[in-house]
Amino acid sequence: MTDILVIGGGLTGVYAAIVAADQGARVTIAMKGHGGLSLSHGCIDVMDRSAPSRALSLLPDHHPYKLAGKAHLKDAISKFRDLMQHAGYPFTGKLSKSMSILTALGTIKRTCFAPSGIARGDLDSGGSIVLGKFLGFRDFYPYIIQKQARKVGVKITKFIDLPLLEPPNRRDAYSTDYALLFEDSRWREEIIRMWRPLLPGVKRLGLPAVLGFQNHCQILEELEDSLGIDIFEIPSLPPSVPGLRIERILLRQAQVLGVKIIEGAGVIGRIDGRSRGKRVAGVVLHSTGRTIQLDADVVLLATGGILSGGLVAQQDHRIRESVFDLPVRYPTNRSDWVGLSLFHRQAYAGTGICVNARMQPLGLDEKPMFNNLFAAGGLLAGSDRSLEGSRQGIDLATANCAVYEALR
Ligand SMILES: Cc1cc2nc3c(=O)[nH]c(=O)nc-3n(C[C@H](O)[C@H](O)[C@H](O)COP(=O)(O)OP(=O)(O)OC[C@H]3O[C@@H](n4cnc5c(N)ncnc54)[C@H](O)[C@@H]3O)c2cc1C
Repeated sequence: MTDILVIGGGLTGVYAAIVAADQGARVTIAMKGHGGLSLSHGCIDVMDRSAPSRALSLLPDHHPYKLAGKAHLKDAISKFRDLMQHAGYPFTGKLSKSMSILTALGTIKRTCFAPSGIARGDLDSGGSIVLGKFLGFRDFYPYIIQKQARKVGVKITKFIDLPLLEPPNRRDAYSTDYALLFEDSRWREEIIRMWRPLLPGVKRLGLPAVLGFQNHCQILEELEDSLGIDIFEIPSLPPSVPGLRIERILLRQAQVLGVKIIEGAGVIGRIDGRSRGKRVAGVVLHSTGRTIQLDADVVLLATGGILSGGLVAQQDHRIRESVFDLPVRYPTNRSDWVGLSLFHRQAYAGTGICVNARMQPLGLDEKPMFNNLFAAGGLLAGSDRSLEGSRQGIDLATANCAVYEALR
């Protein structure tokens, strides 16, 4: 028996599990696979506006931020930053003013909180930029960044080819391969020796975000000190090293707090037969060759949206919630699910389950379906998180709110 059973191992689920365990609850996480952090840039987007906190007050009442409330957003961000700081991976930023960072495609992204290595590249501060190109790394093209950035008024002076030792040569190298190589101090010494003569006159150097996993801050500092330049990281294409750094820190902290983690199996919800349909009893977990029953006082759904398995689009044009088959809000006409262009509003992105201000899923009668079922993160309806640039802020704020309400 567990006090709180969290379904989903993304930012929402693991953060919620840590908060609950920190409050003294016995917590289990059950997840089919890892969440979407390796697909994110590894920053905390709150709202794609120059003044996010002001934009929050203009949102409609059914928006997840409005339901959870600003206090939960602030508390969650503060807790998240404490966790990262404690793990030696500090974040900087403000809710009142976002920063502008370069992406690997040369677009400018507004985000609220970023790890300090990425935040050092804030385009609203600092001087001219030089980009480093790693020979053999296919997921980072400085000339594309330079061309695109010029269109939006960002001047990138030049890019420099920087050699790396021993890139894996039997296949294309990924960002994770380089992040592991940067962890090796001997390898770094060699790199510094090779790069030093290539960087005269450079003051501020942008590199793909592959500068180590665990010891990223020390690695960055060592490179800066040895080369005598400022260095910042640019989030590159998936797998995202900054996203994976967060995932590792969160999972490690969850384990330290005694959270039980069950990985690799999808779950189906169970309703408590003695409660006249008012309570959930837990879930059934289908693993290879066997079925396990998990009982819980409270279940928290953090299963993400349609891209993560929390919602399933069926052939009969229905979108189904994958654990308890909760009602899902979506356009009835399937051709309305996607916009005409990839860059337009996508109706499916706002699809999800409706909750009240306690983060309890609502039935068609707008009343909570179960007393002890809560939901948070990408599964919730009421926002187009990609278009708004609000993904991680919503994940943290709603997870925080759900845990406090569940343990009340
Ligand atoms: C395809 C894709 C593209 C993305 N692109 C971006 C991007 O461009 N920028 C960006 O910042 N972020 C991106 N993300 C990440 C995104 O930020 C997060 O997925 C999102 O914030 C939701 O977080 P979450 O924790 O609510 O859910 P997720 O991180 O999606 O995690 C959901 C978790 O629930 C589990 N799960 C789902 N159904 C079940 C079930 N029935 N039983 C058990 N476990 C289940 C999953 O295995 C997973 O562990 C992307 C994610 C995906 C999947």
